[in-house]
Amino acid sequence: MDDRQENARDSVRQLFDAVDAISVQGYDQERRVVYWNIGSERIYGYTAEEALGKRLEDLIIPESMRSGVVSAHESWVNKGLEIPASELILRSKSGEDVSVYSSHVMFRNARNEHEMYCIDVDLGDVKKAQHRAVSKEELLQSVFESIPDLFFLLAEDGSIIDYHAGDSRKLYVQYEDIVGKNMADLLPEEVSAKFKLFIAKAMVDNGFLSFEYYLDLPIGKAYFEARISHLPVQKQLMVIVRDITEAHEAAELIRKQAYFDSLTSIPNRFLSLDRLSQMIKEMDRSGEKAAVVFLDIDDFKKVNDSLGHEVGDKILVEAANRLNSAVRESDTVGRLGGDEFIVLLGSLAECFDAVEIVEKLLGVFREPFSIDGRELILTSSIGVAIFPDNGDNATDLLRNADAAMYQSKEQGRNTYSFFTKQMNEMILRRLAIEEQLYGALERNELEVYYQPKINVKDGKIVGAEALLRWHSPVMGPIAPDEFIPIAEHTGLIVPIGKYVLAHALGFLLEWGQAHRQEYTMAVNLSPRQFRDQDLVDFVKAALRTTNVTSDRLEFEITEGVLMVGQSSVDEVLTDLHALGVKLSMDDFGTGYSSLSYLRQYDFDLLKIDRSFVSGITTNKEDRDLVTATIAMAHSLNLQVVAEGVETAEQLTLLGELGCDVAQGYYFSKPVPAHEMINYQLLKPL
Ligand code: C2E
Ligand code: CA
Ligand code: CA
Repeated sequence: MDDRQENARDSVRQLFDAVDAISVQGYDQERRVVYWNIGSERIYGYTAEEALGKRLEDLIIPESMRSGVVSAHESWVNKGLEIPASELILRSKSGEDVSVYSSHVMFRNARNEHEMYCIDVDLGDVKKAQHRAVSKEELLQSVFESIPDLFFLLAEDGSIIDYHAGDSRKLYVQYEDIVGKNMADLLPEEVSAKFKLFIAKAMVDNGFLSFEYYLDLPIGKAYFEARISHLPVQKQLMVIVRDITEAHEAAELIRKQAYFDSLTSIPNRFLSLDRLSQMIKEMDRSGEKAAVVFLDIDDFKKVNDSLGHEVGDKILVEAANRLNSAVRESDTVGRLGGDEFIVLLGSLAECFDAVEIVEKLLGVFREPFSIDGRELILTSSIGVAIFPDNGDNATDLLRNADAAMYQSKEQGRNTYSFFTKQMNEMILRRLAIEEQLYGALERNELEVYYQPKINVKDGKIVGAEALLRWHSPVMGPIAPDEFIPIAEHTGLIVPIGKYVLAHALGFLLEWGQAHRQEYTMAVNLSPRQFRDQDLVDFVKAALRTTNVTSDRLEFEITEGVLMVGQSSVDEVLTDLHALGVKLSMDDFGTGYSSLSYLRQYDFDLLKIDRSFVSGITTNKEDRDLVTATIAMAHSLNLQVVAEGVETAEQLTLLGELGCDVAQGYYFSKPVPAHEMINYQLLKPL
């Protein structure tokens, strides 16, 4: 090596002298230190003075590596086999491990001897950082493992970037099936909608949100709590999901204990009253009625005292079961305490609708209770309060039902009472009517009356309307407005309606023959009759036997029939029309959407309700409505009949307005057949 090289090495050494981040060591052919920079002192702890002249293997090479280092160096010197650069763990003066990345070069010096230079980069910081990273990862992993939650890292669009589960069995789907997918696609629609909503919220609030949901898993229903936090910088979301099924079940149990009676498992007082308040709100909205039924088992205390509490408990359980099976699915049966039960009946059209169910509840005790081989006969006393008639809040209704129950006790038990006297009377009367109505046909108490219909233009009788009368020796006079709805309710209207039809057609034949006239006969049909499969055939047969042509029979129906919206109504109307029978819209003006029905069902006649006719001469609004109705009906090719005509003025005005037919007390009240057959029109037009 020439001087220039020697000088160059000196200047390189000088450069290395100033570098403390890298250790540079020079060794002669016997591996004795010939150069030791400040970086070497920093990394290995030996000063240059201490190091110079020492052998490499005695200085910084750990025992275990010594022979390997010596032979590798010798192979390099003798055979030119380079020692490759590598990561090594060497030894410092104080005996500690030193991690370095070590590169080596071999020179020949001026004396043509081999000199080896080692350039070691301290990996201590890197290693420490690496170690820290590893242990952080390990720490996280152990955190994950010790927490039973599932961790999901999501992109802001909901796609899953990563997940961890402490217990991978908790992950009901495999890792590969999850990562890369969107959270929303993995979950049922309802749950995924919830996720989307809360993810959106978390992104807006940049906050931390939690919500609960459940999944129907093969192992059963499982409940979860999801906590979402948004990481705005990373544009990611952390979702932590915890299985809270156990907690949920525990809460459910507590809820059950708080709301349900532990003996009978039906709602307790608290829940019953809560349901009552709820029902009041709903009925208030829908405009329907509701019944609060207070039921107390008669002489229960005696049973309890004489047969013991265990028997008493069994009776209560059995009673609760029986009561529950007597009501509709939507009704509530609750236990108020002791032997007191409450039953809530919603969605009633009228208070009388409660009677049927209340009677059923009373009847629940008819069957003896068989407890421990003993047959026990029990009865109950029931009180009923109606919303809104007897109170508009839970407290009042319960108190009034309770008071009504005491009435039942006073009346000798095993009965029911409604809260108000009028209601009780009304219900008793209805029940009596119902009872009497059952045999009325057989006892020949029913009779069909007729009221003539007159052509307004020429003053001739065109026909009559058949109107039912009931002569009840027990009940006295009862108007059709009272007994027809009951006949409708019980279904008795079906046989009664047939009776009316048969008589009306029979009379029509007789009447027409007596006057040599082709009269028409109008018969009222009520909604229940449309559900009678037999109706159309019966009409056909009745027309045939009386030899009346179908176009002389008119059926009067109200909107009530059409509003039921049953397909059976459509069918029957179509069939009747096909027979050639005329259809008449009764009580026009009192309903809602008569016009659309008129178009839809091909009516032939329209009857203006008597409430409008009575007002036409005095009330402009009634007159305007009748005027418009007549014009509208004529445009639809319908004949217009005015019912309830009582005065000459009304008749005159109706004539001027173009009304076709009139009917009312002005001409005749409804009269029995023998009177109708002799009826002569006496009133001038
Ligand atoms: P509706 O079909 O509207 O019958 C007309 C009612 O008005 C009849 O009452 C009739 O007596 C009464 N009326 C007739 N002209 C006058 C008048 O000038 N002034 C007043 N104030 N009233 C008059 P009725 O006979 O008491 O029948 C009441 C309702 O009972 C009928 O109303 C009808 O809906 C129903 N109904 C009667 N008979 C039957 C029947 O055989 N079957 C069915 N399904 N319903 C019937
Ligand atoms: Ca009628
Ligand atoms: Ca009417």
